[in-house]
Amino acid sequence: MLELLFLLLPIAVMYGWYMGVRQTKISRDESKASQTRQFVSGIKFLLEEKKEQASDIFVDLLHINSDNFDANLALAEVYRVRGDADKAIRIHKQILESDVSVTQRKLVYKELAKDYVQISLYEQAIPILDELIEDSTYQVSAVKLLLNIHQALCDWDLGIKLIDQYHGILSEKYTVGLKSQFFCEKAQEFILTQKNDAAMEFLEKAISLNPKCVRAYIIISQLLKNLHRNSSAVEYLMKIPQIAPSMTMEMLPILRSCYELPREKSVYLEQLKKIHEYSSSASLIIELANFDELDNEETQEFILMHLKRNPSLKLFSELLKYQQINAHDAVSKENIGMIQSLVNAQLAKNPIYQCRNCGFQSKILFWHCPNCSKWSTIEPIHGFEGD
Ligand SMILES: [Zn+2]
Repeated sequence: MLELLFLLLPIAVMYGWYMGVRQTKISRDESKASQTRQFVSGIKFLLEEKKEQASDIFVDLLHINSDNFDANLALAEVYRVRGDADKAIRIHKQILESDVSVTQRKLVYKELAKDYVQISLYEQAIPILDELIEDSTYQVSAVKLLLNIHQALCDWDLGIKLIDQYHGILSEKYTVGLKSQFFCEKAQEFILTQKNDAAMEFLEKAISLNPKCVRAYIIISQLLKNLHRNSSAVEYLMKIPQIAPSMTMEMLPILRSCYELPREKSVYLEQLKKIHEYSSSASLIIELANFDELDNEETQEFILMHLKRNPSLKLFSELLKYQQINAHDAVSKENIGMIQSLVNAQLAKNPIYQCRNCGFQSKILFWHCPNCSKWSTIEPIHGFEGD
């Protein structure tokens, strides 16, 4: 149904043109007659469900003037949103060749730059944006598109410079969020080349600019742990449950690695209990169950209590693990083991992370959503099948 509605859009634009042709009685004109034949061919393709061919003909037939400017612009946007930037470019170029005003021309250039960015033709987009950035009407759009380009090309320095230059016209939330991520990217580059001091400097900048930048806390604590500065690493890690309890699962492996000596076990347990004041993550409950000084029965009761509060496959699997240990006979052990395998198989199939902006799911934590290109919107899935 949506496909049909989409195909009706160019037809609606074409219909306007076609009626215009009839009304002004220019059907005698041979070139117009040829266009009419093309239009009929397009309809035939449509009836034969050859949507691509039909769509190509309709785009070629677009007759652009100031009266149908908005309709053509909308049509091009529909193509771009559907991922067909090539057709959007064709329409935008046709509009630019037609008789449109200077204001309309600038608007089309902005849309054309978006088309180029979508298909990574940055060399074509940049000169357009460099011109538009001088016009106050298009400045914000141009800066944002240029920032998208710098991100795609990993030009973090240029990105930071552009944000600094235009921070006055962008929202604080946008610049703080983006710049702290660019600082983290710079830090990760320095870590790869073992320039730890430079990396540390950028991570501290990220935290100072954006005290809620979970990514910076995670990278800096991992870096400090690797440098055997465990107590500093723990200090940064323990900020995470307060600023982003949903990210508890991400910090636990680093925290555990800071308390590897047997004599540190009780301190680790204390830290887990502090985290529990902010988070009821299934990973945290499992960690508490494994490290607390409880016997098997008490551990099962502890997990069961949390399972009742927050039903979760992860916790159920953990409960089965303890029940299997406690099972009285070999058959019961085997049966429980089989159920646990099934639950674990289901868990292994499930995605772990989800973007709260677009719903994109994955098994890997991306700081930059590959689907909607937002920063820091992907987090562990919670609830029955999550953490
Ligand atoms: Zn997303």
